Amino acid sequence: MLYKTSEHIENLMVSQEAVRKQFEVSKLELESGYAVDADPLREKEHEVVPGMINKYGNRVLCLLTAECAAYCRFCTRRRLVSDIDQGRIDKPHVNSWIDYLRHHNEVREVIISGGDPFTVNDDLFDYALGEMSSLESIRIVRIGTRAPVSDPSLVNCRKLDAIARVDKPVYVGIHFEHPSEITRATINCCRSLITANAILYSQSVFLKGVNDNYHTLHNLFNELLEIGVRPYYIYRCDPVPGATHFQVDPAKERHIMTMLRRKLSGLACPAYVIDALDGSGKVPVPLEFWDADTTHYTDFKGDEHVI
Ligand code: SF4
Repeated sequence: MLYKTSEHIENLMVSQEAVRKQFEVSKLELESGYAVDADPLREKEHEVVPGMINKYGNRVLCLLTAECAAYCRFCTRRRLVSDIDQGRIDKPHVNSWIDYLRHHNEVREVIISGGDPFTVNDDLFDYALGEMSSLESIRIVRIGTRAPVSDPSLVNCRKLDAIARVDKPVYVGIHFEHPSEITRATINCCRSLITANAILYSQSVFLKGVNDNYHTLHNLFNELLEIGVRPYYIYRCDPVPGATHFQVDPAKERHIMTMLRRKLSGLACPAYVIDALDGSGKVPVPLEFWDADTTHYTDFKGDEHVI
């Protein structure tokens, strides 16, 4: 994965160590050892049309671009992200997605992600969002992004207008890792999305040395709720090559989440999940309220995995 940051992230990196650690290339990235494989979520196997992944039947993931405003060194899709040529999507690609959806009425939800969809040109963003959401069978649209954190200026008027024109629920999932990412520009960006009728939620990843402590996550989730972003998921960092040094001890993650569940309002507390290594889905981790054996879990297909 290439190195890239935005001006917004560069400015934050100067004063915020937690941001610097996410975007700076460390030597640990090159040494990082026991990774399972480059595609732990088995997305390539479920690609039904170039750029469209159907793992669940009722919802599809559309990778609109391989580009992001800034590249997070722990990215699960680092096999693909920043490979601009491989990930280049244009209107004919979007047309092939629409063709697939027309023949698969069981798909009710499209998740537009990437890379970051807000990095594509306004015309393509508008086209993809407008055409897919206007299909009768599509009832829900989701957009996955980190742009409000990595470069809020990408959430511009044309893209906001495109969101506002969709007459179905548009959920925007924003990737946050640390309270220092909630700047004035990010808050304003979230407000603009809410004004465009988007419903906001967050996704986070446990990252060693960045957010693996109670107070950081307590502040993050409380502040997100206060700016209108509902904390949704916090994941265990996937074991992708180059990112395993970010992984936190699972017992520590579970303890932090147990303490958070005791203190946070229910709305502020995200679900703590592991993305099953066969790509079958997100498995909730039991907290310390239950006397459970957390050394292994069974995925949606019934296969067992050791943590
Ligand atoms: S914004 Fe998301 S897709 Fe892009 S590098 Fe970061 S984690 Fe990966």
